[in-house]
Amino acid sequence: MSELPYSYDAPVSQALFDRASAVTPGGVNSPVRAFRAVGGTPRFMVSGTGPYLTDADGREYVDLVCSWGPMILGHSHPEVIAAVQEAVSKGTSFGTPGEGEVALAEEMVARVEPLEQVRLVSSGTEATMSAIRLARGFTRRTKVIKFAGCYHGHVDSLLAAAGSGVATFALPDTPGVTGAQAGDTIVLPYNDLEAVHEAFHRHPGEIACVITEASPGNMGVVPPLAGFNQGLKDACAQNGALYISDEVMTGFRTSRSGWYGIDGVRPDLMTFGKVMGGGFPAAAFGGRADVMAHLAPAGPVYQAGTLSGNPVATAAGLAQLRLLDDAAYVRIDAVSQQIQSLVSEALGKEGVAHTVQNASNMFSVFFTDRPVRSYEDAKAQESFRFTAFFHSLLENGVYLPPSSFESWFVSTAHDEQAVQRIADALPAAARAAAEATAA
Ligand SMILES: *Cc1c(COP(=O)(O)O)cnc(C)c1O
Repeated sequence: MSELPYSYDAPVSQALFDRASAVTPGGVNSPVRAFRAVGGTPRFMVSGTGPYLTDADGREYVDLVCSWGPMILGHSHPEVIAAVQEAVSKGTSFGTPGEGEVALAEEMVARVEPLEQVRLVSSGTEATMSAIRLARGFTRRTKVIKFAGCYHGHVDSLLAAAGSGVATFALPDTPGVTGAQAGDTIVLPYNDLEAVHEAFHRHPGEIACVITEASPGNMGVVPPLAGFNQGLKDACAQNGALYISDEVMTGFRTSRSGWYGIDGVRPDLMTFGKVMGGGFPAAAFGGRADVMAHLAPAGPVYQAGTLSGNPVATAAGLAQLRLLDDAAYVRIDAVSQQIQSLVSEALGKEGVAHTVQNASNMFSVFFTDRPVRSYEDAKAQESFRFTAFFHSLLENGVYLPPSSFESWFVSTAHDEQAVQRIADALPAAARAAAEATAA
């Protein structure tokens, strides 16, 4: 049972969480869901419609998580549901090629110009893991550069976070990742091109690739400074390394062709997930055809998956992508701007130091008045204010990501009524943030 001050009445969720905790470590199948950063009882959701989620206690929330990005058309979109029902009625998995996966790949390739070929997988983690393997196989090099605060799924070698100082070899971030796995990963501060040049200088001919979130959303929203992604691309090109843009979060969300559609920097390889699966486990990696040609069975780098290109998942993803036309992004961008302004206004009125940062329609609030350009900056915020803010909104029917280091997400279904509910809940939440004190 929770002994935190925020365990107001959610008896059915609490009972489910107790049952879950008996059979599942920490009661959840993905750690952030457990509310550890904010305390209290995680809400067990039973249904979603449009911009709303309903929990097991019968309470309705405006959802600003959207399943961490995938539900960009809102929950239970009728056309996505119809596509899924049609696919399901024909069978759920064949273990053979099928037309649905071809159609999804064609849609992706048509939208994202540098994406010449794609391989479908089932999670973003699999996508980044496979892209790194391919980059190593292609370049015949071992080392990988990643940035502190960038999350690329729970791939062993990418769970390494920053050691002290620039270009030091990372220590494993989690028990179970060996020194050997982490030792080939070089972790650098985000938005620091100088550190990248220095790492290439120190390890001539050893660096296979640089992997970066196209625009990071996993330390809160911290967009690349002007020229940063281009600088990475150029450093890779000059040193015979591949530039991997992780668009698992930004892909088909920040524009119809993802972050590439915004900064135009051409990656060698890209990774996708979240939106492209329409709420099902579908993800992908792809890019230059000459690099992808090294992948089995065309080439020697092995990669496979029993459920890769699953017909139900690809039907959902394809239906969702086809509905995401230019008008949809105009709408999502507008509602995102509207909510960002409301949040900033409410916090401003209460004199709470804050910075709202966005990357097109992805945004988050940092409880600091300084711009956040790196993970170090993000960690300097007053997270205890977020905790109070989060619980006040939750109590008043607005569901935020349960951590101050996550992006908030909206959908085409967030209409005036949903925005009004947020607006109504914000003044009390801003007051709670103002009154919060560090534990
Ligand atoms: C979510 C995410 C991943 C991991 O995807 P999963 O499907 O959770 O394995 C990888 N990279 C980025 C940028 C992400 O946001």
